[in-house]
Amino acid sequence: MNREEAILRELNLYPLWQRRGQAKPVCEQEAAAAQPIIEQVTSQSVMEKAGLQNLASCNWPELKALVKNCTACKLRAGCTQTVFGMGDVRADWLFVGEWPGADEDVQGEPFVGQSGKLLDNILAAIKLKRGHNVYITNTVKCYPPGNRTPEANEIAQCVPYLERQIQLIQPKLIVALGETAALLLGYDAALPDLRGKLHNYRGLSSHSLDKDIPLIITYHPTDLLHTPLNKAKAWDDLCLAVATMQRLV
Ligand code: SF4
Repeated sequence: MNREEAILRELNLYPLWQRRGQAKPVCEQEAAAAQPIIEQVTSQSVMEKAGLQNLASCNWPELKALVKNCTACKLRAGCTQTVFGMGDVRADWLFVGEWPGADEDVQGEPFVGQSGKLLDNILAAIKLKRGHNVYITNTVKCYPPGNRTPEANEIAQCVPYLERQIQLIQPKLIVALGETAALLLGYDAALPDLRGKLHNYRGLSSHSLDKDIPLIITYHPTDLLHTPLNKAKAWDDLCLAVATMQRLV
């Protein structure tokens, strides 16, 4: 079983769910049956404490409170705080990273430290600025011990939060930074095979979105710090993102 299948199994969606673009489309009846299951993934006690029936009805303050108080997986016990995301909640641009690092864990904001500086420079290069028509978040909201890769069940527990953020923002374009971000958005392949092209995102759960959102996958800033040679490829991806956005607005 590959990593995507492991995550979908944790969500009780495997083998019902087939990624968009795969040969067998998901059956609508099966997807409808899967919907309550994905909602149950979020800690029921947290939902009850917040007086909410399901995540799909959460507004921003409710969603923030849910994430802040979430103990749905073991990552919360080892981190300082959850890192929800930041920026313009009506942004056209949504940048999705992987998980908070040690600096993010301390400051409670995504993309701080060296990778944050590089992301800010990347944004500036395409005439964007953090917080202005840009929202930034991660696929997983808690720092994993020792900055390890989150396990499939931990990623699966956190999926509904990102899904709801995307529903609320309704960005025109999503830029996934790194392989794990791409994985959570439904793509399981090596990053070189995913970058450099336009994908469509509709969410992993059946209630996610009314329409597809264009999605571009590129390197995570931390990868670029380790392998500067990939910066030229990342720049190509960002040019594709800019050209796509120009067509959309
Ligand atoms: Fe909750 Fe996500 Fe943190 Fe796990 S990683 S405790 S699911 S917010």
